[in-house]
Amino acid sequence: MRKKVAKEEIHWTFTASAAPNCAKLEGTVDVDVLVIGAGLTGCRTALGLADAGVSVALVDSKGIGWGASGRSGGQCNPIWRQTPLELVERLGARHGETLIKTTLTAADDLFSDIRKYDIGCDAVQAGWVQAAHTRKAARHMSALGKAWAAAGADIVELDGDAVRAASGSPAYSFALRHAAGGHVQPLSLTRGYARAAAARGAQLFKNTRMTSLERADGRWRARSDKGEITAENVVLTTNAYTNDVWPGLRKTFLPLVSNIMATEPLSDTQQQEILPGKVTISDSRLTIFYSRYDRDGRLIFGCVGSSDTVDTLGGFVRLRRGLKIVFPQLADIPVIRKWAGRIAVTPEMMPHLHEPAPGVLAGVGFSGRGIAMTSVMGRTLSAKVLGTCADDLPFPIVPITPLPFHGLTRRFIPLVAPAMTLKDRFDTLMDGALLHKGA
Ligand SMILES: Cc1cc2nc3c(=O)[nH]c(=O)nc-3n(C[C@H](O)[C@H](O)[C@H](O)COP(=O)(O)OP(=O)(O)OC[C@H]3O[C@@H](n4cnc5c(N)ncnc54)[C@H](O)[C@@H]3O)c2cc1C
Repeated sequence: MRKKVAKEEIHWTFTASAAPNCAKLEGTVDVDVLVIGAGLTGCRTALGLADAGVSVALVDSKGIGWGASGRSGGQCNPIWRQTPLELVERLGARHGETLIKTTLTAADDLFSDIRKYDIGCDAVQAGWVQAAHTRKAARHMSALGKAWAAAGADIVELDGDAVRAASGSPAYSFALRHAAGGHVQPLSLTRGYARAAAARGAQLFKNTRMTSLERADGRWRARSDKGEITAENVVLTTNAYTNDVWPGLRKTFLPLVSNIMATEPLSDTQQQEILPGKVTISDSRLTIFYSRYDRDGRLIFGCVGSSDTVDTLGGFVRLRRGLKIVFPQLADIPVIRKWAGRIAVTPEMMPHLHEPAPGVLAGVGFSGRGIAMTSVMGRTLSAKVLGTCADDLPFPIVPITPLPFHGLTRRFIPLVAPAMTLKDRFDTLMDGALLHKGA
């Protein structure tokens, strides 16, 4: 029998709802707000504004959801990597407390948005298993879980056999189970937000890469190759695919990569054992192994990658090896598709809200936690445009500060995945030998 070859194509484009109608920008458009970048952040921002009766244009250099949002694992992992106390220390009491409150309802808010705007995106809120790959990671995770549970999150600790029962993976001996977690078809969700925004009057444009932004006659004027848009306010939601439309913005984060693949559908028996009840899983490795089902019972499995092509520096081998570690039962399962996307990672692994000039906002840097948090950011950006006081937002407005040696560091990004893999293996050997039976 010939082995199936995994094709390099984005699985979600085969199972997504239809793309909303939109054309390339040609000529001149005049609106209250221009949103540049039509991923989850931009689409949710445009929806919030259109809902409030504001005239909005939403543009994307390729198409709605073309970036990370349409490539994502689509797992709703609703807490930060920091404890509530660390958030308060980092952001100050006012923003910290607001962000904690917002975080505690972020997953429920996402799923209630999906119902409110009637977005068909195969949404499932069946929980998230966050698994530790070493004893050190288990201690850290336990402290994080206890801190968020004390703040009000529905989180329980799982030990030993309970981890395997909850996840179907024999590779872990400690995990947190977050009841609010879940998963969505990320391209359908992005398109759904855009469609809901268009139904409320937003104008959508694809194949429209904005190349310049300047002040003209008291308004902002953005240009693409065939047209221009003038607006009172501009919101930049270009994340890891940011160009130089606002100087320095793309240097505030590193555009790391995540590789991901889709298997053949699992049998009913396999689905009862592996990720039972359609729970999702991700782990504490630097390379972050994460997994969930799609609507057809295919397993979607991802980890850190090297470039826009999965195979770079052994990326596909790394994915297959990761799947075998987490679910050795699936070591030989055929993989039908593989793809990659860019993730904007900030130094503290938290998104940044910027206001580099009056009337210009940017929300970027979700650091791999974008499914729930882009919605939080989208609502924050639209609230700010609509006049909410900066002190009342969950994120503080921070200056655009380019990372030191950004150009040099960027060149080494392809090496990040192999280096992290080595470090994960080392940590597993040194610290986790008793915990981890699969590596
Ligand atoms: C493979 C992968 C797996 C992931 N898995 C998860 C997960 O399971 N859970 C989770 O929480 N997060 C996950 N993430 C992260 C999450 O998907 C992102 O944080 C989120 O989608 C970011 O959305 P965004 O709208 O900010 O950016 P994007 O979706 O990247 O959108 C930015 C858009 O801006 C456009 N653009 C850029 N410059 C211009 C310009 N000058 N003019 C016009 N348009 C422009 C781009 O074309 C792009 O479509 C994953 C990411 C990847 C890549």
